[in-house]
Amino acid sequence: MNIPYYHAIGKEVQVFEHAYNCKIPFLLKGPTGTGKSRFIEHMAHKLDTKLITISCHEETSSTDLIGRFIIKGAETVWLDGPLTTAVKEGHILYLDEIAEARPDVIVAIHSLTDHRRELFIDKLGETIKAHKDFMLVASFNPGYQRGFKELKPSTRQRFVAISFDYPEEKIEAEILVSETNVSKDDAKRLVNIATKIRNLTELGLTETVSTRLLVDAAHLIHTGLPKRLAVHVAVVEPLTDDLEVIQALKDLSDLMI
Ligand code: ADP
Repeated sequence: MNIPYYHAIGKEVQVFEHAYNCKIPFLLKGPTGTGKSRFIEHMAHKLDTKLITISCHEETSSTDLIGRFIIKGAETVWLDGPLTTAVKEGHILYLDEIAEARPDVIVAIHSLTDHRRELFIDKLGETIKAHKDFMLVASFNPGYQRGFKELKPSTRQRFVAISFDYPEEKIEAEILVSETNVSKDDAKRLVNIATKIRNLTELGLTETVSTRLLVDAAHLIHTGLPKRLAVHVAVVEPLTDDLEVIQALKDLSDLMI
């Protein structure tokens, strides 16, 4: 498989390589759709190591990560969870949106994220030492608006952290062209629309236009959907349900595409 395309924005590649050598837990901070997942896929490929990704949500528990007993015929057998597998076999475990998970997940990773590098499996009463190649990576959306979960300082301080944000305009347009083969002109127009909307802080959007939304719009345009319609459905509608704001954003983007 080809290496997943990732356009570096700053020093993140270099920093990650060093953190990987030292196996220091790594935190990717930033809003949704800014390339965090793509970055870690790219790095795992580059470092020739396996990546296990868990998309955390409010029901994600330590049992989901560590493992559970299951009934198989007449027997009860233990099944390792993805974290246990990664710890034993030496993979990168990526906890996407870690703050969404239940608090017992944070407790479970504590001993893995300090000098001990060990996992306690309470259901088996066993402690296992992490494989030398095991590394924990997590992402977190700091979101300054209501509704986003925080990460405690005692957890954050177990990670080396890097911030992700929307790339500068030229780079973002290059990403759209690479990802979708859309024309350079259309890519530039999409990025201009995004920049304009991102600056409209008075709209009070919970999250603004991400690179992911622009990639979707560019795909639709490249496959022949009328440009205005593509921007309406891929950029404007996902942002808000407020009819007035939708109309204002449609008017604005119609003028710009
Ligand atoms: P996140 O994990 O931050 O929510 P993703 O990594 O899923 O975001 O990024 C969403 C999409 O945006 C990717 O699938 C990719 O198409 C594009 N993307 C964003 N940033 C970059 C980048 N720096 N290089 C390449 N693609 C990017």
